[in-house]
Amino acid sequence: MYEKLVYLELHIKLDCRTMLSWGGYPKVSQSIVSISSRLSKLPKALSLLPYGLGRSYGDSCLNEGGTLILTDRLNHLIEFDRDKGLLTTESGVSFADLLNVVVPAGWFIPVSPGTKFVTVGGAIANDIHGKNHHVAGTFGRHVTSLELLRSDGTRTDLTPNDDLFRATVGGLGLTGLITKATFSLTKIPSPFVLVHSLPFKGLDRFFEISENSNSDYTVAWVDCLSKTPRGIFMEGDFTESSQREYKPQKEIITFPFYAPGFLLNSLSIQLFNEIYFQRVPTKGTKKTVSLNPFFYPLDSIHNWNKMYGKAGFLQWQCVVPKEGIGEIFSILRKNRAGSFLAVLKTFGDAQSPGLLSFPRAGVTLALDFPIRGLETFKVLDLLDSVVREHRGALYPAKDARMSKEMFTLSFPKLTEFKKFIDPHFSSSFWRRV
Ligand SMILES: Cc1cc2nc3c(=O)[nH]c(=O)nc-3n(C[C@H](O)[C@H](O)[C@H](O)COP(=O)(O)OP(=O)(O)OC[C@H]3O[C@@H](n4cnc5c(N)ncnc54)[C@H](O)[C@@H]3O)c2cc1C
Repeated sequence: MYEKLVYLELHIKLDCRTMLSWGGYPKVSQSIVSISSRLSKLPKALSLLPYGLGRSYGDSCLNEGGTLILTDRLNHLIEFDRDKGLLTTESGVSFADLLNVVVPAGWFIPVSPGTKFVTVGGAIANDIHGKNHHVAGTFGRHVTSLELLRSDGTRTDLTPNDDLFRATVGGLGLTGLITKATFSLTKIPSPFVLVHSLPFKGLDRFFEISENSNSDYTVAWVDCLSKTPRGIFMEGDFTESSQREYKPQKEIITFPFYAPGFLLNSLSIQLFNEIYFQRVPTKGTKKTVSLNPFFYPLDSIHNWNKMYGKAGFLQWQCVVPKEGIGEIFSILRKNRAGSFLAVLKTFGDAQSPGLLSFPRAGVTLALDFPIRGLETFKVLDLLDSVVREHRGALYPAKDARMSKEMFTLSFPKLTEFKKFIDPHFSSSFWRRV
């Protein structure tokens, strides 16, 4: 008994922080343990779920009534082959910390989301995508091995040929705790990116620019309230530069408090959209910028999610065939359902490795909505119906409300996936869908 207590103290830290997801909705209560690298067995609990940096928006990183396993102490780099660009890290290491090590050595993370405050474990469990999906596919495609610790104490090294690997990549943290992973990096000539920004009007024009782009990284901001969808297409490529020093981004502003809900309405969004759209001249601009403002523009505002108020907000991200996207914009316009952060991108056709990976060929749209009661949920249900009709999918990492039916239709390999779930792992999302 004594030995057991010492063991617990050394390797498991019980904690009572409140853990939220990035959208601040739903708010649930759960217990928390923080484990160290030297832990050989997971704590005994009926329902466990790993938690990285909580940058998932909804409830896929929450476990109401259960226990979250914080990975903040699994924060060691294990091996870095600077010639081959191969990195082995523990799963709680953040992309922000990785950048400080790999960029000065001439490498970049193979696939990065719109924030660097995610962990390696979180990136694998959601099989995340980035601005280079059309050339590089998802993060999971670059993982060459990972170690998985299950609740029965087994610790297994998995490679892409293993079925359990395919279930764990994109597996929403339900197959066990990823303790470490090895993945390949992308060679870069400098930490600078040549960015071309080009305004467009109309979805046909968006698709034309997108198809003609030869850049490694592309994404578009879009104004979904204007009569014809319009936006700014941004394409970027790492470029040679005499300046090679990597300067980590400093947070420029901290969002100081939860903004009152009424500040965000279709009028303020329309105003913002107008100013944002007009900022780039019709012929476009070309600029060389450090990688941070291009890849992680929102990271310069600490706690920007507070702008949506205390009630929190919902993200909605779909992927649909090209033909379905116009209908989605019509619904948004008809319902005056504007979004500050509307991101449009075409996915490439690279096969995603996970049984539940979200990315697939088509076009993806991500939107943010402050929660205004039933009205918000009704509009999102309408959007879901278009996704369903076009046999698209919704992204669990961004979700707090999709129905079981929608989830089942989005992931045809769900039945195969279920065989690999660890019986002691679960999440609020999983129980909901
Ligand atoms: C501003 C912003 C921009 C974003 N842009 C993108 C984007 O462009 N593309 C994209 O794909 N996503 C994007 N996201 C979503 C984000 O990349 C994912 O939600 C990511 O998984 C979050 O990582 P995390 O470490 O915070 O994990 P969490 O959110 O804490 O957890 C995510 C999932 O991973 C599981 N998990 C975490 N650690 C482990 C582990 N060690 N072992 C097993 N399972 C684990 C959790 O159980 C949970 O299911 C964005 C999020 C934000 C806030």
